[in-house]
Amino acid sequence: MADIKSNLSEIYKKIEEAQKKSKKALAPVKLVAVSKFHPAESVIEAIKAGQNLFGENRIQEAAQKFDFVRSQGYTPELHIIGSLQRNKAKDAVRIASCIESVDRIELMEELEKQCAKISKSIEIYFEIHTGEDSKAGFLTEEALFAAAERCAAGDFPHLIPAGLMTMAPATDDESQIRRSFSTLYNLRATMNEKYPSLKIKELSMGMSGDFEIAIDEGSTAVRIGTAIFGSRA
Ligand SMILES: *Cc1c(COP(=O)(O)O)cnc(C)c1O
Repeated sequence: MADIKSNLSEIYKKIEEAQKKSKKALAPVKLVAVSKFHPAESVIEAIKAGQNLFGENRIQEAAQKFDFVRSQGYTPELHIIGSLQRNKAKDAVRIASCIESVDRIELMEELEKQCAKISKSIEIYFEIHTGEDSKAGFLTEEALFAAAERCAAGDFPHLIPAGLMTMAPATDDESQIRRSFSTLYNLRATMNEKYPSLKIKELSMGMSGDFEIAIDEGSTAVRIGTAIFGSRA
């Protein structure tokens, strides 16, 4: 069994150290504890250790788990970080405060529709493909800018574009990982120049294996699972 409490305090220490060393990490770095494949009991253990922000990548699993955790009187915040099908948008909007894996306009249209139905606003991050092996995220700047333009035009009143998200490739080549993260860092500047009304702030980048590099490259939120909850059997 993973010692969730001591893992969390270890991670927070490392985050702080990485942030102190980084010239690009200016805002406090948030920790999204990725609890996918781990049971509700592990989430509750993390909450009791002071963690309130979680990430999940499958809606059905997340809904079951977090409905239960909330029924126990806890009030964790949840981000969806995995690729999202349109028919899961309704549940996603119900259980989460942020969808980090927004990768196409059709999904934004569905999220807007579901948010409007329940009068809820939700944060979205644009997921950007920066070199990871799977093809998750916006693949071209054209597609990303088209989506941002629709937001700037006011087409999605319930969606708050708050950040960018990426996954670096799984490789030992640190320069390749850094290139991924710096691409996201530079893209934020480009987007805020092009669409100043959107005020993109967050850079969600960095996982168990590369979060210190991500912070060095300006991450504002790291998504960490294995180093907190142990391996996913
Ligand atoms: C699973 C997952 C993580 C966490 O990965 P670890 O290596 O366990 O820290 C982060 N981001 C996304 C999108 C994930 O799917």
